[in-house]
Amino acid sequence: MSVTRILIANRGEIALRIHRAAHEMGIETVAVHSTADADAMHVRLADHAVCIGPPPATDSYLNVANIISAAEIAGADAIHPGYGFLSENAKFAEIVEAHDITWIGPKPEHIRTMGDKVQAKKTAGELGLPLVPGSDGAVSDYDEAKKIAAEIGYPVIIKAASGGGGRGMKVCEEESKLETLMKQAGSEAKAAFGDATVYIEKYLGNPRHIEFQVFGDGNGNAIHLGERDCSLQRRHQKVLEEAPSPVITDAERARMGEVCSKAMRDMAYRGAGTIEFLWEDGEFYFIEMNTRLQVEHPVTEAITGVDLVREQIRIAAGKELSHTQDEIEFRGHAIECRINAEDPFTFAPSPGKVTHYHPAGGMHVRVDSGLYAGYSIPPYYDSMIAKLIVYGRSRDKCIMRLKRALEEMVIEGVKHSVPLHQELLNQPDVLTGDYSIKWLEEWLKEREG
Ligand code: ADP
Repeated sequence: MSVTRILIANRGEIALRIHRAAHEMGIETVAVHSTADADAMHVRLADHAVCIGPPPATDSYLNVANIISAAEIAGADAIHPGYGFLSENAKFAEIVEAHDITWIGPKPEHIRTMGDKVQAKKTAGELGLPLVPGSDGAVSDYDEAKKIAAEIGYPVIIKAASGGGGRGMKVCEEESKLETLMKQAGSEAKAAFGDATVYIEKYLGNPRHIEFQVFGDGNGNAIHLGERDCSLQRRHQKVLEEAPSPVITDAERARMGEVCSKAMRDMAYRGAGTIEFLWEDGEFYFIEMNTRLQVEHPVTEAITGVDLVREQIRIAAGKELSHTQDEIEFRGHAIECRINAEDPFTFAPSPGKVTHYHPAGGMHVRVDSGLYAGYSIPPYYDSMIAKLIVYGRSRDKCIMRLKRALEEMVIEGVKHSVPLHQELLNQPDVLTGDYSIKWLEEWLKEREG
């Protein structure tokens, strides 16, 4: 299997990220784009470009037939899906492989298993990952639900098996409300996902979100690249991510990393993956696995020196992992700020024309973005327009550099979240790393007054 020309089935900063790794490996790239993205940077930089449809994503970036046709027309021998869009669509992965095109991603059956939350939890348990205490799969019987909830103790959380994006969840404080909330969760899940199946878990009061980056070669070898702490979230969307986590010791990283990589060896996982946990009082609880590259992957790259996209391409081409676990060293600290085109106070989206743009620079400062002066941010897609990733020898040095880099960022013509990040980096809890997944929303509420 050789990869010589990759079609990038995505847009924005992640399409650029993949293009860069490919070109550094001497591989050509094919951009696909909607009519709204004809002038986008990912189209300008790629070797070839194919328009795949009108602006709405369902007609373009999610249009399987058009993307496969584009690959055939442009002579691509591999497809990288990036994140979002079709990246966790097992059917798409199967169609790509059925066309004798190399799929730069996990085996379709693993994408499918991890995409169903009840199935994913069951598999994770079998693989030895620690789970949130709860029902053994789906529950529909109220008496059974009451029994389970009494065993694990209130509060509990009722979750939709087909849920996603933080939707279809209900927290239940006491037994008298369980039946009503289960009915509500079931009918909401039915309306949103066409599937009323729910399951029950212990509700953790004040956890952190900590995830491990893993890589497998598909033949039973796998390594981990440490953890990322993504606890600063608004509406279950990550805002700022860091590696390593301020609360994880070297010994804990080695222990938990081995638990994760062993699970990946046992399932003969292929490619990049992220195993997400909630962490409370020193314990990890599996919540889900993402079978793709994550937005926040650069913080891992900064502290390990491993190019994750290059590694994905190598593995898809049938090569071995570039590193053994012993060769992976964790050095220093990295933080990523997600910069969105939105009002930093109301969070209302702010698409439109960027009149001036000057990214931050200097030692250990990385900006992944498709912005340029004169570019018009289209209103149809995700509002993230840039990622600022900063490295330092220690967490304190990283924060000092990050503040300096945020001062340098110039994005004019649209509202954006740089001021929000500047405010966050003046909060004592953020400076000491003392925050949970609840912290940001509570702080925002206080800020509103
Ligand atoms: P989704 O797939 O919808 O994103 P997840 O299972 O990943 O759902 O959970 C999303 C978020 O909901 C978590 O990051 C966490 O903030 C919260 N959450 C989920 N399960 C629990 C739990 N058992 N206890 C407390 N919070 C939870």
